[in-house]
Amino acid sequence: MFRKASRRSFVSTGCAVLGVAVMPRAFALDSKVDLILRNGKIATVDANNRFATTVVVKDGRIVAVGDASVAEGYQAARVIDLAGKTVLPGLCDNHVHPSPPKPLAPGEVDLQHAYTWAENEKLLKAALKGLPAGAWLRASAFRLYFTEAEPPTVWINADISKIPTRYMLDKVAPNNPVIVRASQLVVANSLALKLAGITKDSPQPVAGDGKIEKDANGEPTGILWYAAGDAIEDFAPPLPPIPPLSARAEYLALKDFFTHLRHLGITSCNDAAGSAQRLRLYQNLHQEFPGELPRITMQLGLQAQKFDTVEKSLEILEGVGFHTRGGNEWVKIGAIKMFLDGGYTFSRPWPINSVAHKHVPTYFGAWRSPPDYFYHVFKRAHALGWQIGVHSAGDESTRIVTDVFERVITENPRPDHRHHIIHLEIGPPEETYQKMKKLGLGVAMQPDFIYGLQPFFELALDGQQLQRNNPGRTVLDHGLHLSYGSDERPYGPMYGIYAAVTRRGQDGKVYGAEEAVTLQEAIRAYTIDSAWHTFDEKTRGSIEPGKVADFAVLDRDIFTIDPLKIKDIKVLQTIIGGTVYDVPPGLPNYYHETQQPKV
Ligand SMILES: [Zn+2]
Repeated sequence: MFRKASRRSFVSTGCAVLGVAVMPRAFALDSKVDLILRNGKIATVDANNRFATTVVVKDGRIVAVGDASVAEGYQAARVIDLAGKTVLPGLCDNHVHPSPPKPLAPGEVDLQHAYTWAENEKLLKAALKGLPAGAWLRASAFRLYFTEAEPPTVWINADISKIPTRYMLDKVAPNNPVIVRASQLVVANSLALKLAGITKDSPQPVAGDGKIEKDANGEPTGILWYAAGDAIEDFAPPLPPIPPLSARAEYLALKDFFTHLRHLGITSCNDAAGSAQRLRLYQNLHQEFPGELPRITMQLGLQAQKFDTVEKSLEILEGVGFHTRGGNEWVKIGAIKMFLDGGYTFSRPWPINSVAHKHVPTYFGAWRSPPDYFYHVFKRAHALGWQIGVHSAGDESTRIVTDVFERVITENPRPDHRHHIIHLEIGPPEETYQKMKKLGLGVAMQPDFIYGLQPFFELALDGQQLQRNNPGRTVLDHGLHLSYGSDERPYGPMYGIYAAVTRRGQDGKVYGAEEAVTLQEAIRAYTIDSAWHTFDEKTRGSIEPGKVADFAVLDRDIFTIDPLKIKDIKVLQTIIGGTVYDVPPGLPNYYHETQQPKV
């Protein structure tokens, strides 16, 4: 029987124990230290969520934490008076995808981060400028989030009336065929429709999920769903090849990526699908720029995009000379990453669900690999000492993968494996939750999805599945380890914490208030509990003596601010291993990679 785990009674306002949390000095022999932070509101995120005012740092580690008296007798090379500012442990993002921006070909434009129609228009016009009349223009539009101040152009929405049509594109591009890919659909302008032969008389695609959207008069609106969108993309001439970035440029672009994460207060991150080659680049980065970048744990992606066979995956496993926990405190080996189903932002909503897609009643998602694949690969990875993380978004996929874990762990019990489900966007059945608890499975969730993916959820889901997406409360109430990260939707821990606590989507509506977690729980999931997922909870994730000196100094007090404003909080300084990095003023508190026009 399921017993509700008792909720920890955290002090959520943070004022109760401020300044009285004196902890023992660990290394008090030498009075010369590198850094003292004083006069702050320092959330230690220790077992009791105590607050302190002062931290003493030496050689990249925390020497003492507590009230002002803990700094007595120390001489610091640098003292920062926090003037009451709030400090969190450095944030640990459980899911990032470091990929250098992809150069664009002529005839290609990136609208993914254009918030308004005016911005879309501007980018389209600029891209058309370099193109001869009649040449095709391909755009990708993938709007993730917007600010309330700027009403969005909604490329993806259950409300069809809000999606731009051919006529809007015609105004910008009367002489060039234009197609805009936005996840599950393509919007084409009139010229593109004409060239592709899509008219009033065109029959609907045979493939069940394709649809040519037509208006009241039967005219195509330009909105082409699924197979219909794929077809016009196939019809358009392929883009010209573009030279790849040089190895050095790609390497430096990776450095930029991690620097951007640092600007967000992220001091540790988990690459959610790396490779042996990528690991080498991370090692090089940390050697060339020591202490400048967040600590990286790299998951080794198996069948990342390639739908590898069992044999191929086993060959990769046998071929790498390391496994989880190898490395050092800057670059580490994480879990094997495998993919069971898909995501709501893909051109197909692949999550495997017990409930059909809202608009395609026969569609329950699709496997990326047959379930049998996982048993064989898990078994070997588990035996070799790997931690296993599995992308599973739908409820049915989590049910099935938990059964596979049960089989593997029962056949070969191994303590402290920390295998986990990645995403868990739709909660599995009660029985599965209990099994996960029994097996010791964790959940690596991305709460910013509640906000950033709301239009996508709305498109595919209904009822309880829509309301209770990313069910943080239920996961915690079952006593499971829950960690948080972003999966680039967007990068920006404050968005994740905001969404986890308020359960608000981009539209400002509350989705499943009963799935909200407390502020302290959200912060723990973004710090100490995320560190647990990479076997680092003893050395990072909280502000305690002996741990690495990783902190984020906030511009506002997250513990007293109106929760609706959490997503506006900015990080002023990120401190990694005791080195202080000021965040350049004026930067937004989120980050996304933008494709670069070819120069
Ligand atoms: Zn991902």
